[in-house]
Amino acid sequence: MQYVERVQRCQPGWRQKVDKYLSLLLPGHCVLCGLDAPPSAICQGCRSGLPHCSGGCAVCGLPIETKGSHACGACQQSPPPWSAVWAAAWYDFPVDRLVQQFKFRRKLVVGKVLAGLLRDRLLSQRCPRPDLVAPVPLHAWRQHRRGFNQAFDMASHVCRDLGLPSPTLALRRKRPTPQQLGLNASQRRVNLRGAFSWNGPGLAGKRVALVDDVMTTGSTAAECARVLKRAGAGPVDVWVAARAR
Ligand SMILES: [Zn+2]
Ligand SMILES: [Zn+2]
Repeated sequence: MQYVERVQRCQPGWRQKVDKYLSLLLPGHCVLCGLDAPPSAICQGCRSGLPHCSGGCAVCGLPIETKGSHACGACQQSPPPWSAVWAAAWYDFPVDRLVQQFKFRRKLVVGKVLAGLLRDRLLSQRCPRPDLVAPVPLHAWRQHRRGFNQAFDMASHVCRDLGLPSPTLALRRKRPTPQQLGLNASQRRVNLRGAFSWNGPGLAGKRVALVDDVMTTGSTAAECARVLKRAGAGPVDVWVAARAR
């Protein structure tokens, strides 16, 4: 990666470590290499080395075999309940590390950077403007343990930056679901069935943006999109910082 090469070329090992910690604690440093950058940001060099998503299936976001096709074969054969996935980057190094720092070590400045990458992607690709932004909810006890909901935090930054109304809290997680890690797609579907509910007024054809930090198999997004559709939502777009491939 470009930022690793840059840091290794010009700094001794101890300085790399110090810079990395400083970058997470202090504003004004790139969250990846620790070099000077605007507050809560990533420097231009690191940004250009990120695994940006491009040219994937417009519906699921995954790499597509046939160039020029709008959607992959799987999405054409069995369309998911959402309309399109808008992802800032692949869930590869170093984006995976950023997501983990944000989510599990509560580095809120990193969340702001991820939200900024997503916002830039939405703007550059002229994503349709939603009527409502709904973060994927955590169950109350998990949110209490983690201290925050990473999807809500990212959605708040994006809404503020794009001049959208604040994210809704009406999409709720009714029951805690065991970790999805290690489950295959059909096990994930069963695990999530009936886990979400819509506690707001009818959505009457409104366009909804569903926000999450990472999209893996898409089972969480699909379950949330189905709940939103049952509440009357029109198109549901999925906005994620990172897409696993
Ligand atoms: Zn950097
Ligand atoms: Zn697809």
